[in-house]
Amino acid sequence: MKIKRITAYQVDLPLHEGSYKWSGGKSVDVFDSTIVRIETDAGVTGHGEVCPLGPFYLPAYGPGARAGIGELAPYLIGEDPTQLDRINRRMDAALKGHPYVKSALDMACWDVLGQVAGLPVCTLLGGRYGDDFVLYRAISQRSPDEMAANISSYREEGYRRFQLKVGGDPDVDIQRIHAAADVLEPGDKLVADANTGWLKHEAARVVRAVRDVDVYIEQPCLSYEECLAIRRRTDHPFVLDESIDGMEILLRANADLAMDVVNIKISKFGGLTKARQARDLCASLGVAMTIEDSWGGDVITAAIAHLAHSTPTELLFTSTDFNSYVTVSTAEGAPQRVGGRMSASTAPGLGVTPRMDVLGKPVLDVK
Ligand code: MG
Repeated sequence: MKIKRITAYQVDLPLHEGSYKWSGGKSVDVFDSTIVRIETDAGVTGHGEVCPLGPFYLPAYGPGARAGIGELAPYLIGEDPTQLDRINRRMDAALKGHPYVKSALDMACWDVLGQVAGLPVCTLLGGRYGDDFVLYRAISQRSPDEMAANISSYREEGYRRFQLKVGGDPDVDIQRIHAAADVLEPGDKLVADANTGWLKHEAARVVRAVRDVDVYIEQPCLSYEECLAIRRRTDHPFVLDESIDGMEILLRANADLAMDVVNIKISKFGGLTKARQARDLCASLGVAMTIEDSWGGDVITAAIAHLAHSTPTELLFTSTDFNSYVTVSTAEGAPQRVGGRMSASTAPGLGVTPRMDVLGKPVLDVK
């Protein structure tokens, strides 16, 4: 089987809440998503998606994704999309770095492989654990009272895990964490995600001020070393995210005992193939995981669901249903949240069929 055509589509994804705000005053109103379509000479078509969290979160941005896909596509025409490791080696040889660019292409190849095998991607990634898996809700950065109210309202929708966007003024963040903790019930879990936003002295003040609160601390500072310094002076369970973007740093962080949980975002690692490698290593090491992506619509949510559902339940700390945050549906068949949980499709491949009327005309067409 050979890839004969690669097309890409740009889709705007507005938010139900109007805007999403996190550390350092960063904010997005409309997400810029790219959906890739890979056509084969066997008539099988696969889809993938990449959707950066704005241009200022990770080194990734919407137009960059499309430029990179345009750069890589000619190298993939004529290649067999079902040979995932070969495809990834070819992409790495043709374009240094830029993992997010490769993510959508890799995802689309997994979709093809699943359809050819007649199996859901979840099965190909290792198997399905349980009927469904647990989700968290990200609580956009607002005043402490508004964030606590949002937790209560999402709790009524069924969520039991909440990721509080902090990383702002440390004094306000301390209030945010206390206000959020006050509205939780036994069994709920609270994560304070600073998204690299604090300096070390600020992070040190926050973790001390919330010492008696049952809260996880996620990526307090910009660099791995700063995070490690904070990790060593707090007894809160500790999550690393932005600093961990490949196997080398993952191994180092494990050796340094730098984290209790790691956040594996599909595009941060460069696609399902590499995220799965990291997932399997963490499972072997006993490191729990949040499995997700930076952001996305229906196709990414489907891919997240397959990777999360194929992760042993006790090691899956939490996952995300981005398609419930945005107002536009780009594909049929995407998983839908039920309460605070979700499950991967049982259809072959990713189990999604893009809505071509929503995708519109391709912005890239390589044959
Ligand atoms: Mg995070």
